[in-house]
Amino acid sequence: MSLSSPLSTDTRLRVSEIFFSIQGESSRAGLPTVFIRLTGCPLRCQYCDTTYAFTGGEWLSIGDIVEKTGAHPARWVTVTGGEPLAQSDCLELLRRLCDLGYGVSLETSGALDISAVDQRVMKVLDIKTPGSGEHRHNRFENLAFLDAKDEIKFVICNRDDYDWAKEILNAHRLTERVAVLFSPSSAQQDATSLGEWILADGLAVRLQLQLHKILWQDARGH
Ligand code: SF4
Repeated sequence: MSLSSPLSTDTRLRVSEIFFSIQGESSRAGLPTVFIRLTGCPLRCQYCDTTYAFTGGEWLSIGDIVEKTGAHPARWVTVTGGEPLAQSDCLELLRRLCDLGYGVSLETSGALDISAVDQRVMKVLDIKTPGSGEHRHNRFENLAFLDAKDEIKFVICNRDDYDWAKEILNAHRLTERVAVLFSPSSAQQDATSLGEWILADGLAVRLQLQLHKILWQDARGH
């Protein structure tokens, strides 16, 4: 993969970390992936495991980010956070990564407008459940900008969350439009019960376990 495009640009983003690991979520789980974690998030989900990304990090030009990404032997790149779209220049970063030929995915909270995200990017969009404490920020207008390559993720904290998510699935006919992931909140919801509920209801959703946590627990840089 060529990284010969200009590396100098005035556009800068605040970056929490860039690292090479195994993708732990979505249909790309298991793939070696470079993660670009941008600083900042307007939400405060009670289960958040990346609170260190709310502040700090360093300002890097998009050229610098591309150079650091290219130092790893990866075909896939995930832009995550925090909430990456909280920095508007994230859109330019996504475009640049796509232009370079990477398979790019974006992990976003669902609280900010996704309409201007490059069409080549696979969007993994959260719908926040009541158990997150932040479901009032769900921006359901975003659903109009998803297509078949995109995915929706619900983090399930308890049975009430599961029942709520089922209602949202039906109300928006989500499983007819995109892949839907149900992921247990690791400290609150046991995965076996969630799997049994999904089977009992015959839901066309994917039970998602966070592969990176199985491999490396909560260690930074993975
Ligand atoms: S949206 Fe993501 S990064 Fe932001 S508080 Fe919630 S879990 Fe944490």
